[in-house]
Amino acid sequence: MEGFDLNKLVRESVRKLQPYSSARDEYVSDGSEMLFLDANENPFDNGVNRYPDPYQRSLKSLLAEQKGLSERQILLGNGSDEVLDLIFRAFCEPNQDNIISLPPTYGMYKVLAGINAVENREVLLTTDFEPNVDEIQNVVDANSKLLFICSPNNPTGNAFKKEGIQKLLESFSGLVVIDEAYIDFSKDESWLSALKTYPNLIVTQTLSKAYGLAGIRLGICYASEEIIGVLNKIKPPYNVNQLTQQQALQRVLNQDLVKQEVQQILDEREELIKALNGLEFVKELYPTDANFVLAKVDDANKRYQQLLEKQVVVRNRSTQPLCENTLRFTVGTPEENKKLIAILKELN
Ligand SMILES: *Cc1c(COP(=O)(O)O)cnc(C)c1O
Repeated sequence: MEGFDLNKLVRESVRKLQPYSSARDEYVSDGSEMLFLDANENPFDNGVNRYPDPYQRSLKSLLAEQKGLSERQILLGNGSDEVLDLIFRAFCEPNQDNIISLPPTYGMYKVLAGINAVENREVLLTTDFEPNVDEIQNVVDANSKLLFICSPNNPTGNAFKKEGIQKLLESFSGLVVIDEAYIDFSKDESWLSALKTYPNLIVTQTLSKAYGLAGIRLGICYASEEIIGVLNKIKPPYNVNQLTQQQALQRVLNQDLVKQEVQQILDEREELIKALNGLEFVKELYPTDANFVLAKVDDANKRYQQLLEKQVVVRNRSTQPLCENTLRFTVGTPEENKKLIAILKELN
């Protein structure tokens, strides 16, 4: 990655921006008894009457330790959705720049491109659901700022092969965002260890899936200190609330429980795969490294409706390219899985 210059990728307005300085930015407590009369808060203690730490230092320090990174390589957001939006706003000039996304994939990249008036250049995955490296290189131009790689990919479930991603990291002149929302279910390693090699790499993760905290909204962005510095400049000062910081900290501390739940989900996934494989109306099951299974069926609309009538909601992904007649099944608890399998076997 010789000659990589982040400044060339940052929007001019962001480069010139003087960030908002909050009360909690200007005076950082060292833990001693102080009278905090600087932020116009209600002084009566109810647990959340104070503004939260704008840089979420406790949580970041724990994540940094667990991942072997510096706290300055981490940005936290109100879900990955906020993190991804910040990345757009920092690097993509509306009505000028473009991003590359690889359908069938997570729908938010396209939506965020639309919201931010940024062109979304779509390059379909190959039929075995891998990035089409040559075709991606063909559509890239000088205004291609971001390349979104979702691995393990939603909705297909597979983690992409290492070689393809590596080629893209080495050749793409913008930033490569690897969305690892499902990494804790995968046997493949995270790309976090590649951060030291590739200054153009951003890895996003979330507490919404394996960590079981979709309700608190906590998304994580790992990148170089320089990239995180740019994102910190534009993030809303108090974007991660106090309750979220507390709950996230407790959960991230409890790795044993997370690992145990992930293992249970993986065991149940195997049960579900076995059952689906035995059904006549299931035409193909795609390999999965995530907590869901994508299945091609005879008639997705019909099967979706039949399941709904049995009070089971799955995701019909048939409108996505390469995903005609597919249903996506999230792995539930052992009880839910048993119920689902029994219902599937009764369908005709
Ligand atoms: C579920 C999911 C997310 C999670 O987003 P949050 O806003 O953190 O809940 C991110 N990326 C992908 C690909 C997902 O499937």
